[in-house]
Amino acid sequence: MIPLVDLKAEYRILKDEINQSIDQVLESSHFILGKKGKKLENDISKYIGVAQGVGVANGTDALLLSLEALNIGAGDEVITTPFTFFATAEVIARVGATPVFVDIHPFTYNMNPHLIESAITERTKAIIVVHLFGQPADMDAIMDISRKYHLRVIEDACQSIGAAFQGKKVGSFGDVGCFSFFPSKNLGAYGDGGMIVTNDEELYSKITTLRNHGSCERYVHTHIGLNSRLDEIQAAILGVKFKRLDEWNHRRRELAEEYTSRLTGTVQVPIIEVDREHVFHQYCIETTQREQLAEFLRQKQIATGIYYPIPLHLQRAFSQLGYEKGDFPVAESVSKEILALPIHPMMTAKQQDQVIVSIQEFFGDQS
Ligand SMILES: *Cc1c(COP(=O)(O)O)cnc(C)c1O
Repeated sequence: MIPLVDLKAEYRILKDEINQSIDQVLESSHFILGKKGKKLENDISKYIGVAQGVGVANGTDALLLSLEALNIGAGDEVITTPFTFFATAEVIARVGATPVFVDIHPFTYNMNPHLIESAITERTKAIIVVHLFGQPADMDAIMDISRKYHLRVIEDACQSIGAAFQGKKVGSFGDVGCFSFFPSKNLGAYGDGGMIVTNDEELYSKITTLRNHGSCERYVHTHIGLNSRLDEIQAAILGVKFKRLDEWNHRRRELAEEYTSRLTGTVQVPIIEVDREHVFHQYCIETTQREQLAEFLRQKQIATGIYYPIPLHLQRAFSQLGYEKGDFPVAESVSKEILALPIHPMMTAKQQDQVIVSIQEFFGDQS
């Protein structure tokens, strides 16, 4: 089977180093908020180019704590995309605010900035911009709008660690940047993990407090927070994998270039906008024969994935928002035709050749 991701192959390469790093944590018996977590916060904030990083329990909590730190709640509206993982909009509803969706750009799958202004009301407090599949959204346009209307910007960079817009890393544009270390993300833990980065000292101190029961001094609680910390064992694993992040993102880009050069003309391939450094968390093609192609590839032992089959405005959990089919035609049409192909740093040229040749065979294209 050619899998979508191959975490076992990654582990085999890093095994000694990871086990050693985990052993250090076990020997220290310091499991929560220790040295490894602190080092990872420093390393990642420096890498992204921001002042501070706060390790949290997962990417969803990174978004949730960001909204709470920005005092967003009941009566507020937050603009975001309907074409993303559910968590992006889930957290908006979770804090009691209302998600307001705007449609996406047909080729980049990121929020279409031209549609944002007409969605702004007096209640709009923030934009959660998602850098989907590893491609940065149009941060020039989005930051311009945020300045014009005094909106906060939360970057959901959960799929895009290392990606850059005009040479600047995603996560460093908004008030806060949020990352996920879910195992299959470009920087994945062996369990859940996440991080928030920010240049704002006040937000930093509030988020640090909120993730630890609203407390920064033992048994003194200044806020109603929650328990959302990145544990030391995950930080130990992430510390080892972080050293490979750039190299592995580079390998993803090489694989993407090969796919694109050989599949152009056969299917709709990803389009990278100018000034974007894409990190290809996913490599997604589009075809009107998606189900047939996926089945054909499955029979050839090639895995594929659909991200995302149902846009968020059509999810039952959001039915009370009152959206209908047809409200976001681009997101709806993309969700019917998009298909993710295997792409991960351990993928061999031979495996990739099999995927490409199989797709060409399906379309009867011998080129
Ligand atoms: C993975 C992901 C999240 C959530 O991260 P978790 O660590 O799984 O909680 C949020 N937004 C996007 C776009 C994601 O891909």
